[in-house]
Amino acid sequence: MEPKLIFKLNVGIQSYAWGKKGRSSLAAQLGEKSVVGFESDEEKTYAELWMGTHPTLPSTLTGTSTLLSDHLEKHPELIGHKVLSAFPESKKGSLPFLFKVLSIGTALSIQAHPDKELAKRLFDERPDVYKDNNHKPEMAIALTPFLAFLNFLPLPQILLHLLTVPELSFIPFPLTNSLAASLSIPTTLPPDTSSFTSTDAPTEEQRQILKDIFEAFMSAPESVYQPAVRSLVERYKKNESLTPNEESLRELTLMLDEQYPGDVGVLCVFLLNVVELQVGQAAFLGANMPHAYISGDIIECMATSDNVVRAGLTPKLRDVPTLVSMLTYDAGPGSKQLLRPVKFSTNSELYDPPIDEFSVVRVSLGSAEIDEHKAVEGPSVVVVTSGSGKIKCVESSESSGEKDTLVKGEISQLKEVATSEGKTERRGRVEEEVLVEKGDVVFIACGTEIRWTAEEDLEAFRAFVEA
Ligand SMILES: [Zn+2]
Repeated sequence: MEPKLIFKLNVGIQSYAWGKKGRSSLAAQLGEKSVVGFESDEEKTYAELWMGTHPTLPSTLTGTSTLLSDHLEKHPELIGHKVLSAFPESKKGSLPFLFKVLSIGTALSIQAHPDKELAKRLFDERPDVYKDNNHKPEMAIALTPFLAFLNFLPLPQILLHLLTVPELSFIPFPLTNSLAASLSIPTTLPPDTSSFTSTDAPTEEQRQILKDIFEAFMSAPESVYQPAVRSLVERYKKNESLTPNEESLRELTLMLDEQYPGDVGVLCVFLLNVVELQVGQAAFLGANMPHAYISGDIIECMATSDNVVRAGLTPKLRDVPTLVSMLTYDAGPGSKQLLRPVKFSTNSELYDPPIDEFSVVRVSLGSAEIDEHKAVEGPSVVVVTSGSGKIKCVESSESSGEKDTLVKGEISQLKEVATSEGKTERRGRVEEEVLVEKGDVVFIACGTEIRWTAEEDLEAFRAFVEA
């Protein structure tokens, strides 16, 4: 029997401590629909919904115990030859991407993800910590206002902090001095960062200085950084005569210290960009870029991997030497990490990061509106984040030879006509439509043209890979 081209999935939920409580977690709300036997508990925190084939929490075909990966291995045509040849793992049914919904109640660790070469080495040397050999570029799309640390601040901004925040005096002055010299800024006067407009990438020398500064922060002994954090927090609680620059970091500093008392990660407010993304805005994080998600609900897509190198704001293992040595120290404004979507179809936008493993489409439809997606040359996973409607296979104008796109089933005879005339094989069949509502997760096979119809205002995200 031919496999279906569109079908629903059961997925898994992770209840990490940093998640949101009970039904305030969007991951939990969606999980109530798509996770088998799941009911949220108001006392528990729910952090991540995992959609895909990662062995830690793999998806299954709804109503069965069949793993999506087993099904795809048996039916490689659902993945398509292009993706099969570009990603060897996909021949075993493993999707190149992992799709998630994250609900962030307390800040996640300061982290970065290795590139392919480093991932291989870490996996060889320490498979107990680094569980796979893949890189993990990731993209986050805000579903609610979303706060995050994204990459290092522009260097003059870091210099300003080193020169004006008294609690940072444990950083050796020669480092501050060489940063200032590399920027041709005197250390006698705090730099006026508003006049600094260059977005030039740091020089090799500046990267090395920043690396030394970051190392001085992250490998300072507890006996040094804890009193610094404590005194900073006391000063911010008094809220007396703060400079505008410190004033803007006050609230976040106090919040991070409440979540991770005395943690060295609190001091990262002076090193990393704090960016608030609005609904629909996205950030892309390539390999070796420091970041930490602080609060909000997001869609996240990444290469299939779970490799995280952590150094602060976490009860988990900290691997400071690896983190310090892997980063690219490509300081600059946080806006550099934002990824603008482009039009995909009438009511859909495409977020297309500069990597091969995934792209994400956001579909937003008002009641009774429709949208059509052209066939994608690879597999997709869809999650419906609000509303309800229908996803249906349609006849593409290319394969039918018709000008207009025709709905399968409404013109079922056409199939035989086309086949008898020896035209391109049709994708999609009469019965191929699924009704969806908030929380549903759906797989769409390679080469399937689809039509969306909203019943109530519908929002959905579709991750896909095209090699
Ligand atoms: Zn990350």
